[in-house]
Amino acid sequence: MSELPYTYEAPASQALFDRAAAVTPGGVNSPVRAFRAVGGTPRFMVSGSGPYLTDADGREYVDLVCSWGPMILGHAHPEVIAAVQEAVARGTSFGTPGEGEVALAEEMVARIAPLEEVRLVSSGTEATMSAIRLARGFTRRSKVVKFAGCYHGHVDSLLASAGSGVATFALPDTPGVTGAQAGDTIVLPYNDLDAVRAAFAAHPGEIACVITEASPGNMGVVPPLPGFNQGLKDACAENGALYISDEVMTGFRTSRAGWYGVDGVRPDLMTFGKVMGGGFPAAAFGGRADVMAHLAPAGPVYQAGTLSGNPVATAAGLAQLRLLDDAAYEKVNAVSARIQSLVTEALSKEGVAHTLQNASNMFSVFFTENPVRDYEDAKKQESFRYTAFFHSLLANGVYLPPSSFESWFVSTAHDERAVQRIADALPAAARAAA
Ligand code: PLP
Repeated sequence: MSELPYTYEAPASQALFDRAAAVTPGGVNSPVRAFRAVGGTPRFMVSGSGPYLTDADGREYVDLVCSWGPMILGHAHPEVIAAVQEAVARGTSFGTPGEGEVALAEEMVARIAPLEEVRLVSSGTEATMSAIRLARGFTRRSKVVKFAGCYHGHVDSLLASAGSGVATFALPDTPGVTGAQAGDTIVLPYNDLDAVRAAFAAHPGEIACVITEASPGNMGVVPPLPGFNQGLKDACAENGALYISDEVMTGFRTSRAGWYGVDGVRPDLMTFGKVMGGGFPAAAFGGRADVMAHLAPAGPVYQAGTLSGNPVATAAGLAQLRLLDDAAYEKVNAVSARIQSLVTEALSKEGVAHTLQNASNMFSVFFTENPVRDYEDAKKQESFRYTAFFHSLLANGVYLPPSSFESWFVSTAHDERAVQRIADALPAAARAAA
């Protein structure tokens, strides 16, 4: 393997990073952005257009992060921008109900059969936190089952063995989460139905819900084995618990109806974020009407938000969802498949052991020859190869997630020119990883 190619410079990003570090912990507002796992200077982006991002040094990158999923139409899509401008001109927040939030909720409910009612919030973390509170309030039980390597935002009780940044920084859990907060969380290995059945047997009448990423992308992409989600649903139904499918990442990305549109397993509750906000802070949780009826003001389980259903965010989300028809998914799936085969081809040519896994158009590369079925498998990858691969691509104008425990994302805007630029950059990256 060659020396890590950190030598090229990004002076404007470095200067901004230095300024940021003086006023913000670690210089970033979300940990994985700091490039800690891969080293080097995080790129401060100043603009985005279609499949490209431009950094403070004026360098352009093909973007394979897409803001960690939301930008499924690419950056600055003209129709989304027009909807935002129109909404902004009418005022940015009223703190009252508004038509935009009704229209967004109607669009979501029309696409996803199990989503009988939906409540809008501002981040995926709020969505999962609220869904769990509701599940506990509805069942009058305390315990929550989650899976190692699944990330559901930085909810105290869900940070145990979480993926994404928690995995990137190899944290078992985090200081600041008390024993009491984590004590009701049961963490099980992903894709292991026997472990789920054993947990229900060990805690009869105590488990409020099982929460799972509909198809995990936060330990890299590790799809559910056939029958796993249905098995979860059945185990919940048999034991009086709710099945919560976290679709913050997969929702409106993996199909018109998210992962539900792929596997058809009917959750009791679901959570959303990312794509539904069109690049703005909008998220949601929802599901069975009889469960949602327990939420305030109709029911006793409290949940609220000053900016929930914000008119600008809902206008962006609605514009984006309305553009996401079957043809859009065909396009994004096709370009994803194309890039996946280019990556495999380049790595195979250099004899680099790797496993490429996908869930619809989400995908990631693990530098290991074995299939990755759970978090333990994901941790066995040779992440140092990813670091070399990442930096070579970055130097050649392709922006990957700065961690090997993340999904890659593409958009409908990734056209022939963008794909060609990736193809041109891959051979050197594969050599760097060898
Ligand atoms: N759930 C999943 C599956 C996620 O991927 C994420 C974020 O990456 C979250 C929840 C948290 O969402 P947010 O970062 O908007 O709080």
